[in-house]
Amino acid sequence: MSVEHTGVDVVVVGGGIAGASGAANLAANGLSVVLLEKQETYQDIVRGEWIAPWGLREAQILGVEDAFGVGGAWEIREWTQWDETVAPAEAETVDMTRFVPGVGGPMSFPHHTVCELMAEQAEESGATVVMGAQRATVTAGLHPEVRYTHQGEDHLIRPRMVIGATGRGCTVGRQVGVSMATSVHHWGGGLRVSGLDDWPMDVQAMGTEDDKMFMVFPQGDGVARLYINFPTANRERYRGAEGMSRFIADFELACLPDRGKAVYAAAEPLGPLKLWPSVAMFPEQPIVMDGVVLVGDEAGNADTVLGTGLSCSLRDTRAVCEVLTGGDDWSPGAFDAYLAERKFRMERLHFGADIIAKLHCEFGPEAAARRRRVRALMADNFAASVTGLLNMVPPEDVPDFGFSEFFAERLFRETV
Ligand SMILES: Cc1cc2nc3c(=O)[nH]c(=O)nc-3n(C[C@H](O)[C@H](O)[C@H](O)COP(=O)(O)OP(=O)(O)OC[C@H]3O[C@@H](n4cnc5c(N)ncnc54)[C@H](O)[C@@H]3O)c2cc1C
Repeated sequence: MSVEHTGVDVVVVGGGIAGASGAANLAANGLSVVLLEKQETYQDIVRGEWIAPWGLREAQILGVEDAFGVGGAWEIREWTQWDETVAPAEAETVDMTRFVPGVGGPMSFPHHTVCELMAEQAEESGATVVMGAQRATVTAGLHPEVRYTHQGEDHLIRPRMVIGATGRGCTVGRQVGVSMATSVHHWGGGLRVSGLDDWPMDVQAMGTEDDKMFMVFPQGDGVARLYINFPTANRERYRGAEGMSRFIADFELACLPDRGKAVYAAAEPLGPLKLWPSVAMFPEQPIVMDGVVLVGDEAGNADTVLGTGLSCSLRDTRAVCEVLTGGDDWSPGAFDAYLAERKFRMERLHFGADIIAKLHCEFGPEAAARRRRVRALMADNFAASVTGLLNMVPPEDVPDFGFSEFFAERLFRETV
């Protein structure tokens, strides 16, 4: 026997950035919402912790921006691009605070804390938040069903709509017949650390040296999220008992000032080291159907190297919430604008991610020579840096020429 819940408008499955922000928005707009999150409490599962200004704008529209502020979000003001082909003193720094009026620079934040605050906000607005929801099973249709288990008890909800937001595991998507084509360009690892007292806290770093593409995203008070991307062939490099120490030690890099001592000699782990294939996912069937809509990574995502997954997830959620709070038509056709905008957006993000990955996540002498030449091209003609704008402004605001084969061919032809 299942406990049956009635009168529910929307069930959101997955309480990450996409799902928790959606539950908060829909509940604040008076809908009856149940949010199902499989974790008992929010943990550091190593997700994105750097959000672009255009993603923060989406959070503002959804009304969840306070979760970032209260959750300890830290404004990043400058971006320095280091590289083995450039002496540390010559690395360029970009002011990141001026791209999106009314927002400021990107933010770096503890992901799980912000998700937790969004879920709390949803609950305060009247949503039912079920932490530790297990075996959520969704059936699509004009009368969709969601079954799950909580504390040993089976539950059944027949809402008007289900939002699938389970991330790259695509649990809901698979249940309703949406499969993903995938491609993996490289692997990556992420670790949150403290102790970086000598690192300039308003400067984010990215760079490539040997067979590593590294990133440092400061979060204030000596805390930072570190990432390293590396070739798929080396995917075992940080496994095992000493993996975490090797990961931190790999921040000893000739291209950083003082060989990166502020990181490798000081970093203390604050969470787990997670290793992952940096996968791009492309849905092979429609992500909207009777009674179910997919958002966030569950709907397909670009390679994480671009750093736009959070912004995308919030935009998906915003678009879906606008439909659900904007009128009574929740049929698949009501989401046409969401689907069209998402298609356009993802094409641009996949295109941009491919360029960034080719430029910064390929390794060896040829790739280094390519980076050296592209850097010279960019210094000569600022328009060649257009792909980098994707981190700052939404894809529709990036000039069209940045997404042409001609542009990509020209960028790399100069370099081969
Ligand atoms: C290592 C890494 C680094 C990244 N770096 C960045 C970055 O710097 N900037 C950026 O913008 N993006 C980045 N991204 C991408 C970004 O993290 C994702 O795009 C974003 O987290 C997607 O949010 P989501 O809510 O769709 O999915 P998720 O964050 O994956 O959240 C899904 C939630 O659903 C829950 N869940 C899963 N299955 C079930 C189930 N069956 N039932 C109930 N709950 C379930 C999970 O516990 C989780 O809470 C990164 C991703 C990774 C993996």
